[in-house]
Amino acid sequence: MVLFQLCLLRPLLLGQRNLCGLWLGRESFIPARCPTKTHHCHSNNFGFGHYSTSSAITGVRERTLIAVKPDGVQRRLVGQIVQRFEQRGFKLVGLKMLKASEDLLSQHYQELKKKDFFPYLLCYMSSSPLVIMVWEGHNVVQTSRMMVGSTNPAEAHPGTVRGDFGIHVSRNVVHASDSVEGAQREIQLWFNHTELIDWDCCDHSSTTRS
Ligand code: UDP
Ligand code: MG
Repeated sequence: MVLFQLCLLRPLLLGQRNLCGLWLGRESFIPARCPTKTHHCHSNNFGFGHYSTSSAITGVRERTLIAVKPDGVQRRLVGQIVQRFEQRGFKLVGLKMLKASEDLLSQHYQELKKKDFFPYLLCYMSSSPLVIMVWEGHNVVQTSRMMVGSTNPAEAHPGTVRGDFGIHVSRNVVHASDSVEGAQREIQLWFNHTELIDWDCCDHSSTTRS
């Protein structure tokens, strides 16, 4: 009888833990609902009380700059690229389409100024519109780089954006910031702070639970 109760109670207790939120490793835990008022919860229009994205959990509010380059826009790949980031659970906080000036692009690619391909890069990147986005989420910079794949599509793994769609190193479909500091610099370069929307995802707790 005691054994039966233990067998019944254990999965229930473990299940209850899963219902309570998301484990982010040994130390970090995001409760699905606020245990106390001190956790700055919000209730949104959908009636879900959930943990605010402005909480103190390290890295949840990390942001990165993703751009669909002219070849990606011309080949109508914008939707598929946006879908990959949405499916991965990241939050879109900024998006715009523009034809970039060579001046802006040379600031963006400032580290590559001495490379032989630099003039060609500017010419290609300014040739037609880009779709520039800011995505937010846990470890988004590093994860995005993995999702995008190697610079040279010939070396990019299948399943990555460049591995699936890239044609050549000079036509590799997307840009993704390569560090948290780089992302901050690039976001400030491309976006005015009023163009970035700080919003609470209604399904934050349900999409991030295991
Ligand atoms: N690029 C190029 N030829 C090269 C290397 C890079 O045209 O031999 C272009 C390519 O579009 C690449 C961009 O320059 O995405 C920036 O290069 P970086 O090394 O920063 O690669 P990324 O961070 O985009 O993977
Ligand atoms: Mg780079």
